[in-house]
Amino acid sequence: MRAAIYRGKGDLEVVEIAVPPVGPSEVRVAVEYCGVCGTDLHDVLDGWGVSGSIGGHEWSGRVVEVGSGVPLEVGTLVVGHPGSTCGRCEACLAGRPNLCEDRPTAGVEQSHGAFADYVVVDSNQAVTVPPGVEARAAAYAEPLAVALHALELAGVDPGHRVMVSGCGPIGAAVVAALIAQGHDDVVVIEPSPLRRDLAVRLGATVLEPSDLKTPWHPGIAVDEPVNAVIETSGVRAAAESGLAQLVACGRMVLVGTGMDFPRLDSNRIILNELVVTGAYTYGAIGFASALELISSGLLPLDDLIEPGSVGLDALFDTMVRLRSGEVAGKVLVRP
Ligand SMILES: [Zn+2]
Ligand SMILES: [Zn+2]
Repeated sequence: MRAAIYRGKGDLEVVEIAVPPVGPSEVRVAVEYCGVCGTDLHDVLDGWGVSGSIGGHEWSGRVVEVGSGVPLEVGTLVVGHPGSTCGRCEACLAGRPNLCEDRPTAGVEQSHGAFADYVVVDSNQAVTVPPGVEARAAAYAEPLAVALHALELAGVDPGHRVMVSGCGPIGAAVVAALIAQGHDDVVVIEPSPLRRDLAVRLGATVLEPSDLKTPWHPGIAVDEPVNAVIETSGVRAAAESGLAQLVACGRMVLVGTGMDFPRLDSNRIILNELVVTGAYTYGAIGFASALELISSGLLPLDDLIEPGSVGLDALFDTMVRLRSGEVAGKVLVRP
């Protein structure tokens, strides 16, 4: 089978490799579509990946072979999921399985993802797609689950004003989820014209980063503060100015990763009892909620997902174009 293997920073090689064997509790899936994630860009373009890894975790595909102990039927449409966790550690007991002690640490171990013809996973890492949802839409479940988890941690209530910083694939998913849930006061901060257009089509009000003011005193609020900021860009200045837009008791959720860390004004956090939290992947029901929202038909998937798809040979160039902001929507790879 063909696979795109990460060799080192800026080096992605498409090669022929052996089809991995299927263990008793495993399934082999023929990959239909796999979305390109910001994490994949960090891994390949920034060198965060582990050499020898195959990226791609936002996949949908058809089961083509099952282990002896697996009840799934060949032909079932499934999406990739991180799988079950230990169920015993403090995080698991607190209902936060995404933070389980046993989870693999990103960037430490080799990954065997779906930028390949086939992916072999444990059967609990293959979630059956509800009837009526096609493979393209199903591949959107993972990034949408990330967006829904961020919104959950933001404690967004009806009537809240929400700011989404960055309208790349995750930012766009957050905006689309908010609009689908009935929120009508969503503000997007985005410098790229292409992504600003997308934000407008999704139903947000769009501002440029330079439109945001930071009051001179940390106890003074801006004129039109927001209840929550979802920071998806990973850009230092975006997190720093985002904090200044919050109402008292407001929350900022950091989803976008980066290496130029923000300096958050602790005096503003104290004087306004602001909450700053990270959001990592998704909670226990993340995938179910995402698949439910996709099958509801309320999401404008034609805006969120780029038309068509790219093959493995075009994957590296696509990553470079995504990084430069030339592409606004989610790009799907069809191996
Ligand atoms: Zn992802
Ligand atoms: Zn655990």
